[in-house]
Amino acid sequence: MIVKQIWTGNAYRNFNYLVACGETGEALAIDPLDHRKCLQAARDEGWTITQILNTHEHHDHTGGNEAVVQATGAKILAHKNAGGKIAGVSRGLAAGDVIKVGKTVELEALDTPGHTMCHICLKSHTEQPALFSGDTLFNAGAGNCHNGGDPGAMYSTFSQQLARLPLSTLVYPGHDYIDNNLRFTLDREPDNQSARTMLGELAGQDPSSAYVSTLEVEMKVNTFFRLSSPTVIAKLRESFPDLPDNPDARTVFIKLRELRNDW
Ligand SMILES: [Zn+2]
Repeated sequence: MIVKQIWTGNAYRNFNYLVACGETGEALAIDPLDHRKCLQAARDEGWTITQILNTHEHHDHTGGNEAVVQATGAKILAHKNAGGKIAGVSRGLAAGDVIKVGKTVELEALDTPGHTMCHICLKSHTEQPALFSGDTLFNAGAGNCHNGGDPGAMYSTFSQQLARLPLSTLVYPGHDYIDNNLRFTLDREPDNQSARTMLGELAGQDPSSAYVSTLEVEMKVNTFFRLSSPTVIAKLRESFPDLPDNPDARTVFIKLRELRNDW
């Protein structure tokens, strides 16, 4: 499996991806908004894009579909309930479905509601797994829930699915928000040394050769995985004085998600 992360350089800071089979040169394009860059990258590598996967229905993820289909005839894959929201879907995905790319690549669909209720993450069947996390999990952050999402569903996705993936899992998110997200982590948890060190190293990084984190790193620097941190809870109580003494993780997650909206 060969992964090419494509930095769009747009105002939304989208990352697009090509995932290719090294044997056949067939490639899957994930959220190819910048269709020109994606098509050019495939040409440069000698790859053929045969499938498009939309992690979810938002336009900054689907806006390149038509041009890529016109250029390549690729089939569009998306969540099974996204058909009414994304034009031209030819394969609807449910949890556990496997997408084959060429001869060597297998990607498993995870049904990951929260950012929207039709959101798919992909997990590769490789020795070191890779997670293409769309707008669900960002480096040091989580997607917002205000365009068709639900913070309670997102908490379940994080706790029941993402937190159970192997710690070595590589994280390939749909946007480059690492700088701003690390600042939010430090706002919530000023004593988080890992986040402070990482911000020092990565502030102003060139997103065209972006740092790729692992789940192990996210557990250290991503507030949305740090729901039992005494600092996170104490700081949260400053904003929500009614927070119970030992708040459950779901409550902490939802309150953090709320705070992040106005931050
Ligand atoms: Zn989105």
